[in-house]
Amino acid sequence: MPLDPPRTVAELRELRQLTGDDEGAQRVAWTDTWELARAWLREKVSGTGASEVVDAAGNQWFTLPGDSERAVLIGGHIDSVPNGGWLDGCLNVTAGVEVLRRIAEDGTPPVTVRLVNWADEEGARFGRSLFGSSAAAGSMADQDELRQLADRDGIALPDALAEHGVDLNRALGAQAELESAVAYLELHIEQGPVLESLDLPLGVVLGTFGVERHRIIWKGQAAHAGSTPMAERRDALAGAAKLALDIREIARRTGDGAVCTSGGVVCRPGIVTSVVETAEQLLDQRHLDAGKLASMLEQAKEASARFAEEERIDVDFERIWSIEPILFDDTLLGFCEEAIVEVAGRAHRLPSGPLHDAAEVSRAGVPTVMLFVQSLRGLSHTKLEDTKEEHLELAVAALDRLASRTIDWAASGGGR
Ligand SMILES: [Zn+2]
Repeated sequence: MPLDPPRTVAELRELRQLTGDDEGAQRVAWTDTWELARAWLREKVSGTGASEVVDAAGNQWFTLPGDSERAVLIGGHIDSVPNGGWLDGCLNVTAGVEVLRRIAEDGTPPVTVRLVNWADEEGARFGRSLFGSSAAAGSMADQDELRQLADRDGIALPDALAEHGVDLNRALGAQAELESAVAYLELHIEQGPVLESLDLPLGVVLGTFGVERHRIIWKGQAAHAGSTPMAERRDALAGAAKLALDIREIARRTGDGAVCTSGGVVCRPGIVTSVVETAEQLLDQRHLDAGKLASMLEQAKEASARFAEEERIDVDFERIWSIEPILFDDTLLGFCEEAIVEVAGRAHRLPSGPLHDAAEVSRAGVPTVMLFVQSLRGLSHTKLEDTKEEHLELAVAALDRLASRTIDWAASGGGR
């Protein structure tokens, strides 16, 4: 059967009906609803003749064998956040099913084509994102910390995984699945406002932002709110407040999509009658350029030292987490742009602020590209998440064109 993009939209609605409620999608990884979604996917793929394997990290692979074992991968994640949207993650696996159907209909492809449904991209239950893809990429290095994680009900991560047939100690065995991979393709909703503001349905994703996350500890002196003159105060919150405003300027000066966020400040003693003694501030900085990201962090540190001096307080930076920017493959970026121009007339190149499984696959050395479809109002991780139906259909068509080009390229020796 020829490619039928409206079928993908109908199937996405079906999945929403099956695994969502009035508050949105409920396909949180390592839950019964998630298993229900995985069974639904299995049933959708079954008509293509692709065979299923669940790897050591719980990733679900569907393989359509080709003349060569070299494999072009199409990937997404069917898990969602609680009260999530109807498209985040599952768009790519559902569109991938449609592309598999088209390829199977055309006969044996010259290279193997595999659809992968990554396990626990969102990290919604245990706070660890990109679980399955980082295991497959071999970059998962935090097993000791993962063993300590528990959900809100106190259930330990290893126990929850075991209920779904995954042994945390063996999760890195998933690396075997990427050995034959020559290219990786991922379609995703943008989850931001850029394409809508340009009135474009589809975009080529250049890569994912590097991220620097720090906890900044400001230390002053608690003092009585009534008896301490303004000039005598050593107010820890004043440093945090100055920095919260200054990072806007740092991002503006840096440009090229730079973003800086002060996501929270916790003050102690935190009572109305005391000057703040300690303020713990959370800082998240992102950029596609490693040098610019490093410079943004440097500027935040310099500004903090200045504010600490002005307020006669102390300041310390503790790194919580960081990841380098991931740039996608040049040849695949070109194919992606051609595919988008064919179906939509115009393409735009943009970076991704959110991380995606594609970043892990790319880090593992597999040539990778993503395409974005417009998100309405830029909303995601909420039941309000939406994309126009005609744009979803264009996205499926573009993914199919991109897959065709990539398969031809891989068949002629391109890719890893
Ligand atoms: Zn997603």
